Amino acid sequence: MKSDNDPIAVEARSDHSNNAQSLQTLVSGPLSSSLSPLSSSSSRTIPSNQDFHFFNNFDNCRLPFNQISNTSDSLLRFIGSSSENWGPNNSINFPNNIESIADDEAYRWLTDLNDGILEQFDVSVDEFQNIREKEEETGRVVGSDPDNNGFQLVQGKKKKKGDGVLMNDLICESPGWMEGGSSSSSSGMKVTTGKAKVPFHIPTIRKPQEEYSIRVNNSKQPFVHVWLQKSEDGLRFVHPMEKHSVIGFVDKYIADIKPVKPPSIESTPFKLVEELKDLKELAAKLRSVDELAIDLEHNQYRSFQGLTCLMQISTRTEDFIVDTLKLWIHIGPYLREIFKDPSKKKVMHGADRDILWLQRDFGIYLCNLFDTGQASRVLKLERNSLEHLLQHYCGVTANKDYQNADWRLRPLPNEMLRYAREDTHYLLYIYDLMRIILLSMPKEPGHFDSPLVEVYKRSSDVCMQLYEKEQLMPNSYLHVYGLQGSGFNAEQLAIVAALCEWRDCIARVEDESTGYILPNKVLLEIAKQMPVTASKLRRLLNSKHPYVEQDICHVVDTIKCSLQNAVAFEAAAQQLRMGRVLNVSEERVAVNAGGSGSVAT
Ligand code: AMP
Ligand code: MN
Ligand code: ZN
Repeated sequence: MKSDNDPIAVEARSDHSNNAQSLQTLVSGPLSSSLSPLSSSSSRTIPSNQDFHFFNNFDNCRLPFNQISNTSDSLLRFIGSSSENWGPNNSINFPNNIESIADDEAYRWLTDLNDGILEQFDVSVDEFQNIREKEEETGRVVGSDPDNNGFQLVQGKKKKKGDGVLMNDLICESPGWMEGGSSSSSSGMKVTTGKAKVPFHIPTIRKPQEEYSIRVNNSKQPFVHVWLQKSEDGLRFVHPMEKHSVIGFVDKYIADIKPVKPPSIESTPFKLVEELKDLKELAAKLRSVDELAIDLEHNQYRSFQGLTCLMQISTRTEDFIVDTLKLWIHIGPYLREIFKDPSKKKVMHGADRDILWLQRDFGIYLCNLFDTGQASRVLKLERNSLEHLLQHYCGVTANKDYQNADWRLRPLPNEMLRYAREDTHYLLYIYDLMRIILLSMPKEPGHFDSPLVEVYKRSSDVCMQLYEKEQLMPNSYLHVYGLQGSGFNAEQLAIVAALCEWRDCIARVEDESTGYILPNKVLLEIAKQMPVTASKLRRLLNSKHPYVEQDICHVVDTIKCSLQNAVAFEAAAQQLRMGRVLNVSEERVAVNAGGSGSVAT
């Protein structure tokens, strides 16, 4: 035992007695009345008032009391400061000097916190019910919207009346539960599988840009294709495909094509390429094959220009998934030559965006592409989705629930790896079958090219597109989704334009999508209401949208300034009222990922 004169012991005792005091007030008041119905009749209640003092003299009681006090204290602090609950800048901090504050202050803090949680729950239930009703009315899935709190609802089945919204419908479980999925997912995010609900945004994932030191250039300068040569006049970049003739890629004889059915996914060797040595091995293998199927998974919500998260590659015998986030700087050096090599056939489905992502992120340019999406069009199939081709040619029902998942997630659950593999696993076989049918088709009347040549020409056009960084043009604001038909006046339009500019700047600096900084829906609501004080604006934000909160004074000033400049927007407001589509060159410049981060497919 420590001596009574030991200063450390004295300090500890005074700490303990302070703690004891505050615990005592708590247990004699609201806590004990809340706890008593929870304890079974045989267990002791927590002593209160004088009893508490008495019991607190004994180590057997004092130590667990202290332990409970400390645990609850840190738990409450954790909940209060949780950015997941309140947003990064809105922590509801537990009062620091709990010993010295009145107990009703702590109690009020706790009830406020509870109210906050219940309110958020209410809002979520409302939103969920609205979405469900909309789905039931239209039979369509309402998804890909950041305002849905990151959940893409992918089940369209009509719910029986009276089912109500079950708690289960809103709760997510760890990706670890997914078929054989790793339980040690870094995010701790939970998703229900039976309900087939896949979050397109998992806010707890650490940004890969930071985690893997991925450097991006979000300046307003145009993208420079450093891996391409310039034309003689120096005015444009020259794509390597310009050196090749499409005709050289086209099969001449049906008899030369022997469709090779792939083995089942289960019996196909698979490699998740995460280490440099594995990437080297993959590159060596690809140098020895002359056909490969490729697909990418991408995230456009948590970066300004988008990030390629995965690259799937299938050869005739093997499937590979490359963790492009982890191996970012190595992808180009090891795969660039292979993708450019005109003697290697690259088969992709609907490659338009993939082609641009490869250029932007890895300086990779393709030669000799067969795009099964283009082939599907030339074949005039009833639908052009990969899902349809898989069903039509392979009898495989693809699970497309993960198409719009948050592909930044690591480690990837088995379920997601399997989904990603399915996107390339069957592609070379589909390519075989399509070529045979295309070769057997007669030329379309009035067409110069045979159907197969037509597919290669279209595929070559897809390849030769060049990535351009999206720029905010003076008229871009007119294309914010939802603005047409809003009937906004000049003042409101001025605010829309100014907010578009503001979010564009922030998004570039923070490397976020404009839709993440300020979703279109909220942007339009702000313009509609024209708040000119921080508190009015805050009410509108509803504790979401931390970047607006962070810069709230500036945003309010921007709104006020816009109101003064509104005259300049009279003409645009007039056009908008008349529902005229603006015929300006800027029309094609989309407001980057504005609000939804979704891509129509
Ligand atoms: P896929 O080629 O179908 O695997 O799609 C490639 C990437 O495009 C996905 O990783 C998504 O980032 C994006 N994507 C595909 N479909 C959608 C969609 N319906 N909504 C939003 N993003 C999509
Ligand atoms: Mn794809
Ligand atoms: Zn894919």
